[in-house]
Amino acid sequence: MSTARLTINLHALASNWRALDAKSNVETGAVVKADAYGLGAGPVSAALAEEGVRKFFVAAAEEGLAVRQAVGPEPQIFVFSGFMDGDNGLHFADNLIPMINSPEQFKRLQQAMPDHPFGVQLDSGMNRLGLEPADWASLRSEIESLNPKAIISHLACSDEPDHPMNRRQLKTFRDMTDGVAAPRSLAATGGLLMGPEFHFDFCRPGVGLYGGMPFADAKPVVSVDLPVIQVRSVSVGETVGYGGYWVARRPSRIATVAAGYADGLHRAIGGGIDTFVGDQPCPVVGRISMDLITVDVTDLPEDPERLRILNGHQTVDDLAEAAGTIGYEILTSLGARYSRGYVE
Ligand SMILES: *Cc1c(COP(=O)(O)O)cnc(C)c1O
Repeated sequence: MSTARLTINLHALASNWRALDAKSNVETGAVVKADAYGLGAGPVSAALAEEGVRKFFVAAAEEGLAVRQAVGPEPQIFVFSGFMDGDNGLHFADNLIPMINSPEQFKRLQQAMPDHPFGVQLDSGMNRLGLEPADWASLRSEIESLNPKAIISHLACSDEPDHPMNRRQLKTFRDMTDGVAAPRSLAATGGLLMGPEFHFDFCRPGVGLYGGMPFADAKPVVSVDLPVIQVRSVSVGETVGYGGYWVARRPSRIATVAAGYADGLHRAIGGGIDTFVGDQPCPVVGRISMDLITVDVTDLPEDPERLRILNGHQTVDDLAEAAGTIGYEILTSLGARYSRGYVE
C-alpha cells in the first residue's frame, strides 16, 4: 500500500439508514449531496437504493446524474438548489426534481419546463433557502394545483434539540403547510432524532447515515489507513516537525506517514489525536504537514507498516473536535488523493 486508503463500509451505511428509519413511522430518504458527503455518490446511493430508499437529495442538478445512474429510473431525486438561472431541461434530464426556492425560480421553471415535476422548499426561519411566508401565501394555490412532489423546510438548530428555534420553526412550518396534499418534510438527521412531531411524511437524514453526530449511535462508516514511509529513532530533547514544537522526553521511535492537511487531516488538529494499530493507540506528534504526519510508535513491539487514523475508536467527530470544526467538514474534505475501497 503506497497511498493512503479510505475504506467505506456500505454495511455500516445501510445499518445506519435502517436504524434511523426505525426511529419513525414515516418514509426515510437519504441526502447524498457533495458526493455523498465525500464518500462516493454512486456506491453510496446504490447501496441505499438496495435498502429501499426511494427519495434522494442532492445540492445541485449536476450531482443528480451520478445518483440516477446508481439507483435506476424509479427513485425520486430532489435538487435542493432548485431551478437556477441558466438551468434548462438538460440539467434536469433523468427526471431530477428541482426544489423551488423563490418566486423567480417558480416562474423560470414554468416558462422553461411547465410539465416538469417539482418540489417546494419553504423558509421557516433559517433564512438560507426557500420561499418566504409571504411569497408562499401568494403562490400557494397555484403551486398546489400543479401537484408538487414534496414540500420541505430545514431546521437551523437541530443539533441542539432544546434550542427554542426548533419549536418556532416547527410552528411556522405547520402554519404554512397544514392542509396541503403534498408530502411534507422538515427533518434531517437532527430533526428525525427529535421525535414524531418533526417527522411529517418523510425524513431526509444525511450525516447520520455516514456515521456522524448528532446520531450518537451511528456505526462508523469510514476508516482511513495511512502507509508508513519511514521510522526513525529520536533522542531525548530532539524535536519533530515544523516549528519544532514537539520535544522527545524519552528515547522515541517516530513514524512518518503519507497523508496530511491536503488530504483533509486539518493542520488545526492539535494534540490528543491518535493513530492505531488494531486497538493500540499511537499519538500524533508535531505539526501536521501538507502530505505527512508524524506519530510516536515507541510503545509498539515492532515498527508498523500502516497506521489507521479513522476507525471505531476515533471518529470523524473526534477529529472534528480536535480541529475546531464539525464531522460534516471532516467527511467532505477527505481529499481526492486517497485510494478508495468499499466494503459491500
Ligand atoms: C444537508 C441537508 C440535509 C441533511 O442534513 P444532515 O444534518 O446531514 O442530516 C437535509 N436537508 C437539507 C435542506 C440539507 O441542506
